[in-house]
Amino acid sequence: MTAYTKSAHDSHEQTAAHIRRIVDERIRPNAERIDEEGRFPKENLQALADEGWNSILIPKEYDGLGLDYTAFSLAAEEIGKGCPSTSLIYVMHVGAAQTVAYYGTEDQKQRWLKPVRKGAIATHSMSEKATGGHTWFNLSQAKRDGLDYVLDLEKSFTTSGGHADFYVLQTQTPGAQKPSDLSYFIVDGKDPGISAGPWEAHGVRGNQSGPLKLDNVKVPREDLLLGENKAVEIALNGVDPLYLLGIGSAWIGVAQEALAIAINRVKRTIHSDFNKSLADYQVIRQQLANAKISLSALKPWQLSLAEKYNRYEAEGRLLGELWYEGTEFKIHATEIANQVVSIAMDVTGGYGYKKGVVERLYRDVRAGLVLAPSNHLARELVGKDLVGLPPELFTAGGE
Ligand SMILES: Cc1cc2nc3c(=O)[nH]c(=O)nc-3n(C[C@H](O)[C@H](O)[C@H](O)COP(=O)(O)OP(=O)(O)OC[C@H]3O[C@@H](n4cnc5c(N)ncnc54)[C@H](O)[C@@H]3O)c2cc1C
Repeated sequence: MTAYTKSAHDSHEQTAAHIRRIVDERIRPNAERIDEEGRFPKENLQALADEGWNSILIPKEYDGLGLDYTAFSLAAEEIGKGCPSTSLIYVMHVGAAQTVAYYGTEDQKQRWLKPVRKGAIATHSMSEKATGGHTWFNLSQAKRDGLDYVLDLEKSFTTSGGHADFYVLQTQTPGAQKPSDLSYFIVDGKDPGISAGPWEAHGVRGNQSGPLKLDNVKVPREDLLLGENKAVEIALNGVDPLYLLGIGSAWIGVAQEALAIAINRVKRTIHSDFNKSLADYQVIRQQLANAKISLSALKPWQLSLAEKYNRYEAEGRLLGELWYEGTEFKIHATEIANQVVSIAMDVTGGYGYKKGVVERLYRDVRAGLVLAPSNHLARELVGKDLVGLPPELFTAGGE
């Protein structure tokens, strides 16, 4: 299929409408089954790849769409409406691919980014059991193999584990002085030494975010990204800002979907004894209104944050300057999304509680609170910054 090309006349809303059509026709219809079977939604990713949406930020010279951060945030939101599992995979994919676009050599971009247009999936692997959500620290370490490297380690969670065509994987290199001396490697997903553990989870059951084991996986020096001990700098300035905007936006989509379903249900559900619909009860309307107000308040923030990313990039400034605002947005968007989906569950009564779409979204939406940086941890960092305390997480760890 041909790639979407944004014409000079297309507004962001028109761009969103293009992706909404794919979500309506090819992604949402699979969501129930993907959850039930806990199956990786390969066909959803391919539906996005068919029109180039998986290459949304990748520059045109590497066959990407070359769109901006506003388009990315709207795409994440639309996909979030149709299938939260797919939206999480999508955000991790765009973030990992973009890490190569920002920091890769010409050779890395040619080898790893061009296949993305055809459907190659990227992801980002950092979490380790030993350091939990402190993803700026890893204790695992690559070994040297001449000028190349060998990875013999285990990651605790990796979205798209076992399905990704390449991993942007974070670990130490020999000689690291402290746990935050980390490096990124681009690891070929086809390497036979890679095995993904099972993903049996409360929600987002399609996204395969289980453990990932690397057993003597050789990585040529050409696939070290930027240089040794550069991962935290790359994460703060490039990768994190993308995830923060992407996850927050996707979760706005999840909440919008739940609210739309709830409104539809309360209008259709009639109590025959008094011949009243659920929408006739003030308590129900009040809750729906609260959900709507909370979501409406988030939307301008989403768009202005994305526009700031566009502006900062155009001015040659680091996206890391927006790290705290992105983090605040992620915290607020995922928490509002949880509140809205709880309202959807409440106003739809026993039918919402039964196995089905509201119950599924209620499980899926929880993931947003946990995803790195987990909201408690993220709030700590925002709070420390407010009172002038060092964040420790990027700077300490053995110093
Ligand atoms: C669906 C899903 C997908 C994921 N995908 C990926 C992926 O693609 N790649 C990847 O690398 N990882 C991934 N992860 C891992 C994710 O980043 C971690 O689960 C997350 O960072 C929390 O780490 P943890 O589970 O070890 O919990 P812990 O860090 O042990 O946290 C437990 C609790 O303590 C709180 N907490 C932790 N540290 C602090 C602190 N310093 N101050 C205050 N409170 C704190 C947390 O908020 C949480 O409530 C995924 C996880 C999930 C659930």
